[in-house]
Amino acid sequence: MKRLLITGGAGFLGSHLCEHFLKKGCEVIAVDNLLTGRLENVEALFENPRFRFIKADVTNFLHVPGKLDAVLHFASPASPIDYQRWPIPTLKVGALGTHKALGLAKDKKAVFVLASTSEVYGDPEVNPQPESYWGNVNPIGPRGVYDEAKRFAEALTMAYHRSHRMPVRIVRIFNTYGPRMRLKDGRAVPNFITQALTGRPLTVYGDGSQTRSLIYVADLIDGIDRLIRSGLNEPVNLGNPREMTLLELAETVRRLARSRSRLVFKPLPVDDPKVRRPDIARAREKLKWAPKVSLEDGLRRTIAYFRASL
Ligand code: UDP
Repeated sequence: MKRLLITGGAGFLGSHLCEHFLKKGCEVIAVDNLLTGRLENVEALFENPRFRFIKADVTNFLHVPGKLDAVLHFASPASPIDYQRWPIPTLKVGALGTHKALGLAKDKKAVFVLASTSEVYGDPEVNPQPESYWGNVNPIGPRGVYDEAKRFAEALTMAYHRSHRMPVRIVRIFNTYGPRMRLKDGRAVPNFITQALTGRPLTVYGDGSQTRSLIYVADLIDGIDRLIRSGLNEPVNLGNPREMTLLELAETVRRLARSRSRLVFKPLPVDDPKVRRPDIARAREKLKWAPKVSLEDGLRRTIAYFRASL
């Protein structure tokens, strides 16, 4: 991998990918329309002559001169409040944006990497979720704009793979957290940390018995790097199999932030998945990968970032 283009390059995951591949000596082109991405995520990279930023909406047209070895399509609102605020841009970037990014990868004979999601499994009826599970998604519910966009993106990616024999990678990303998440991103980790650090009550939706499995961003980036280098054209789950209830997460954040905030219970959002846990047997076997950072260590690093940002 010498020269890569990353859509959503100024986002949470995109900016970590830019940083990672620059450190490995690659040339990196980040493309972002800055809808939910932020320039400050990549500000430190501008002094690197191997980094370039292009402000553009990838749903329109995507082209750059010169050779590309990989196109990583990471552009999309990803937090439930974001994609419900921007339902049409979310559907467009998953559908039209994936089409443009695939077209660019095909033209450049580059590997195409799709940021997919555990949301393709919807509100799962099997737990943990292996890649072979087809999912339980409500296509017309408020979350459907994200879930179905990503499901379409996977279908389009496989169609390009089959029709054009293109090398593709599909990474099904489970809840990821770490530095550079936006304070007001609306997801559980940024909400709980911000609330804990500012002495406001931690907002637990529902009774907090729903579960999630959280992976620290550095572990995820390592998995994506291995996936790109593998020959795997089939979807791969990347996540941390440690499953916890939201109540447990809220209490852990409160303890690690040494906060005296109380917990308050708010209504559960529509179609909120009751359980979520990755089966990572495929990644373990084929990528020799497993997450290494414990929840406590990851949260401590994330709390430090939020403390500095506040
Ligand atoms: N959640 C919560 N309090 C918050 C934000 C989220 O209890 O302030 C819950 C949410 O209802 C869901 C879980 O935390 O059950 C994870 O939500 P998040 O938005 O982080 O991501 P999701 O996994 O739903 O995409």
